[in-house]
Amino acid sequence: MSAHVVREMNFEDKTRGSKQAYEQAKSVIPGGVTANIKHFAPHPIIMDQATGSQLTDVDGNNYIDYLLCYGALILGHGHEAVKDAVYKQMGQCGSFVFGAPHNLEYQMAQKLVDLFPGMDQIRFTNSGLEATLLGIRLAQAYNGKGKVAKFEGHYHGGYDQMLVSVNPDMEQAGEVNQPNAVAESSGMSDYHLEHTVVLPFNDIEATKKILRARQDEISAVILEPVQGGFIPADESFMKGLREVTEELGIVLIFDEVKTGFRLNVGGAQSLYGVEPDLTALGKVLGGGFPVGALGGKIELMDLMSPERGQDILTSGGSQQATDRALFHSGTYNGHPTVLAAGLATIEELEKPGVMDDLLRKTEYLRNELENLYDRYSIPMQTIGMGSIFNIVFTDQAVKNYRDLSQADMNLRKQLDYELLDLGIYTKPGNRYSMSTVHSDEDIQATIDAHEQAIQRLR
Ligand code: PLP
Repeated sequence: MSAHVVREMNFEDKTRGSKQAYEQAKSVIPGGVTANIKHFAPHPIIMDQATGSQLTDVDGNNYIDYLLCYGALILGHGHEAVKDAVYKQMGQCGSFVFGAPHNLEYQMAQKLVDLFPGMDQIRFTNSGLEATLLGIRLAQAYNGKGKVAKFEGHYHGGYDQMLVSVNPDMEQAGEVNQPNAVAESSGMSDYHLEHTVVLPFNDIEATKKILRARQDEISAVILEPVQGGFIPADESFMKGLREVTEELGIVLIFDEVKTGFRLNVGGAQSLYGVEPDLTALGKVLGGGFPVGALGGKIELMDLMSPERGQDILTSGGSQQATDRALFHSGTYNGHPTVLAAGLATIEELEKPGVMDDLLRKTEYLRNELENLYDRYSIPMQTIGMGSIFNIVFTDQAVKNYRDLSQADMNLRKQLDYELLDLGIYTKPGNRYSMSTVHSDEDIQATIDAHEQAIQRLR
């Protein structure tokens, strides 16, 4: 029996409870998962408990968690300061939610306005997706143009207009400096493909050319300043993009759902010194609870103010859509429990040394992993910025989606399955997010597990 088959049997044996739970879930949940990205073969691992940097599955296996709820849990699982804030808030409020304005909304909005250079005002949502969607609507209302430009390989939430060319097949992707708009899901109408223009990331000349040619149609450019949380925009690219969008009357939207609190507290915009017109936040902002926020310049944000005129629900059809305040709603927007968790998280990150320590640990792990693979003569680089990085098997420079697609993804996935068996958790192929509570022992155990995994795969 080959070593690989033995290990597969080992995985099956260790995760019998997960397999059983997964089979049950599949009967009532499509594919057994509540988000497609959570699925992997032969079956996802079903979790039962979590604390600090550790996850425990239903079979009692422990894992050091590097997925951290897709980067949201920057303080790890169940941080005491966040728990205290949540309990305190619920105690004070006497309920879970008011369903009316309250002071925490103001406190959090003020905090974000102080931290993010590109924000004069804020609105809260329940997810990052809703925040980017709202940003696009605002841009379109502001300048009256009807198309949006996004970058190939960038993710902004799973709705039709943005579910374009996130992970396209190379056969469909088109010219490198003029990418095609490729649908990422069945059920999307051609309308959205026709209204989304795809740009090449980190290629300012090609980007300018496309924007100039279509300046009358394009209302906004949206981007992840760090693609996928780990491929940084070049500084000159960011500056060039700001200049050209300003020149052409195009709204610039930074999607900082991942980067908002993971590079520093204040996002990519404060690090790059480039101010967008609108910024979407999410993930860390909720301290482990569902959240999103859109912030930006007052001349755009104010289009939402009900003081401008009645909105769609209250005007009774008596006003033209163009005269109404831009519509934005959500039953749970500004949820007090969520904002209490988020504020406690930000305050923790603002404590002296906390962010520096997180960045230092991340850099240490990256360096040690690179040295390790180097010793085994495996061409691998860690790519990242701040407290997120990815392990990429190529020795070529990676600046965008096309470069990334040249890396050996197969080897990466094989490695991740070995690492799962060795107690290191990330969804196979996913990036690594670090937390403030990953200990030196966790980091050493991770490096050792990588060495064992390499030896197994050789
Ligand atoms: N934008 C970016 C950059 C993201 O990474 C994500 C989620 O991964 C989203 C938007 C969507 O956020 P949510 O999953 O909270 O809707």
